Amino acid sequence: MTLHRRKFDTLIIGAGGGGLRAALQLSQAEAHVAVVSKVFPTRSHTVAAQGGVNAALANVLPDNWHWHMFDTVKGSDYLGDQDAIEYMCRAAPRVVYELDHMGVPFSRLDNGRIYQRAFGGQSRDFGGDQAARTCAAADRTGHAILHSLYQQNIRARTHFFDEYFAIDLIRDAEGVVLGALALEIATGEPMLIEAKTTLLATGGAGQLFRTNTNALINTGDGMAMALRAGIPLQDMEFFQFHPTGIAGKGMLITEGVRGEGGYLINAEGERFMERYAPRAKDLASRDVVSRAIAIEVREGRGCGPSRDHVLLKLDHLGVEVISKRLPGIRDTVRTFLHIDPAETPIPVYPTAHYTMGGIPTNRFGQVVVPEHNGPEEPVQGLYAAGECACVSVHGANRLGGNSLLDILVFGRAAANHIVGFLRENRYHRPLYEASVDQALQRLARWERPGRGETVDGLRRELQRTMEDYCGVFRTEEILQQGVARVTELERRLADAGIGDQSRVFNTARIEALELENLMDIALATVHSALARTESRGAHSRVDYPERDDLHWMRHSLFYWEGRRLDYKPVRLKPVTVDSFPPKERVY
Ligand SMILES: Cc1cc2nc3c(=O)[nH]c(=O)nc-3n(C[C@H](O)[C@H](O)[C@H](O)COP(=O)(O)OP(=O)(O)OC[C@H]3O[C@@H](n4cnc5c(N)ncnc54)[C@H](O)[C@@H]3O)c2cc1C
Repeated sequence: MTLHRRKFDTLIIGAGGGGLRAALQLSQAEAHVAVVSKVFPTRSHTVAAQGGVNAALANVLPDNWHWHMFDTVKGSDYLGDQDAIEYMCRAAPRVVYELDHMGVPFSRLDNGRIYQRAFGGQSRDFGGDQAARTCAAADRTGHAILHSLYQQNIRARTHFFDEYFAIDLIRDAEGVVLGALALEIATGEPMLIEAKTTLLATGGAGQLFRTNTNALINTGDGMAMALRAGIPLQDMEFFQFHPTGIAGKGMLITEGVRGEGGYLINAEGERFMERYAPRAKDLASRDVVSRAIAIEVREGRGCGPSRDHVLLKLDHLGVEVISKRLPGIRDTVRTFLHIDPAETPIPVYPTAHYTMGGIPTNRFGQVVVPEHNGPEEPVQGLYAAGECACVSVHGANRLGGNSLLDILVFGRAAANHIVGFLRENRYHRPLYEASVDQALQRLARWERPGRGETVDGLRRELQRTMEDYCGVFRTEEILQQGVARVTELERRLADAGIGDQSRVFNTARIEALELENLMDIALATVHSALARTESRGAHSRVDYPERDDLHWMRHSLFYWEGRRLDYKPVRLKPVTVDSFPPKERVY
């Protein structure tokens, strides 16, 4: 085995919207950039985003970024950092216009402006009537954005390593990040990429759960790499369950369906969201709608022979609206359910969707860690952006349309900060071979045949365990069992194997490495969920039903070494506007 070595100014791990937006900014500033992706860039999960990206453009209804900021703070159940939220909401119109100029084919209004649809949790005038803030390219917005960003990167001569799997970060004795070790999937050869700055943009970890809307590749690799490098993960107890996944299968039916006028009904034909959120109804925040569906089913008002789902009705919208605004949804439903949603309601149930927690960063994308309970210090050389990061703009619950915005705004902001860093740090630091050896050993571990269990079986067991013990509703007892089971699964993984080396493909090795990552993230999630004894946003504790601002207005931090938890306060003070103090959250 030869170890190939390459050197760049910046290494970006991940070619979704976050990684590609950052890469473009850097390449245009003439930095020497490498992007590593385990799949071809345009297959990253961003491609699947349907509904759109939020920006207060006021093209359809009156709007401004203060209202967007208020909605995001409230949606986060007051756990979001308000300086970062302000930064994001102010930057939103600019990043959307940039995309427009790059060639993203947004849907248009008759007057030629970008089309905007209503999405959950959006209001006018600080909690008033429904707003329409989500800029859409039909129901394929992510596809349009990712392809345009990729083309722009090719034009800017970004260097791509397609189908390379990043294994671990390389750090020196002082903890400065020097790059990463990756594996070329086709050949199985390792490659060391040294870089003055490294940006993690590896996306979320939806594969933690059995029923989810995510791509198979969303295994939280970057988060686990950070954990192993001694960096804590923030707010991992907050995992978003999207209210409308196809029941039992998980494929996403965008919130845009409800934004266009679709609504939910139970077995009695009742439009039940009117009881849970009298004002916002079906467009209340996702955590609120998901819990309402779970309660309807639990109380016996579910639909179908097993009474295990509710129905999403959109036949009243008419074929014309559905074909123009929701063509992808119609295709998905026809393909997976063999029904036409223009005629028959869609069976839906909450499904795992989005990782609110992640690698702690500030609004410049720098990874920041509190030093021995003192002030936060940046980890030198390391940045994170996108779903793998926790800035935190989503707090305890993300609003639909805010994630595409997050990846664009903070991908761009991180790149701008890196440009400044590169100007002042012109040389590579000396490599630290001990760290390289450690990363190579992780690879060698999967060259042993192992005893007994398969990686595939363990992955399925982990996903079922997370669904059963860390789902929409949680209690102390259930979470304790969850911690015990995940710990046991992790122990069993240490003995697992991938079979006879001469007969397996590299993909088997990749799946094993991914499962190690998922296992670490699962532990972070159940431990953090057990520790938080309150209900806030997506974290709903039946035994602690109230939000407890006195004790819990703080972010959790889970450390891998010693498996310990720590906490840091929420940044309430924004840069220019008055902060929004916590209030009761009603929709
Ligand atoms: C079905 C669906 C619909 C959605 N719809 C919307 C929407 O309408 N609006 C909205 O705002 N948000 C939406 N979201 C959320 C949003 O799309 C994602 O949060 C966002 O696109 C994540 O972007 P990212 O750049 O962080 O990561 P991703 O797009 O997930 O990309 C991750 C990248 O990291 C690479 N990678 C990961 N691990 C490794 C490794 N070990 N080595 C090398 N490369 C690696 C992958 O190859 C990939 O290139 C949706 C999500 C889903 C699942």
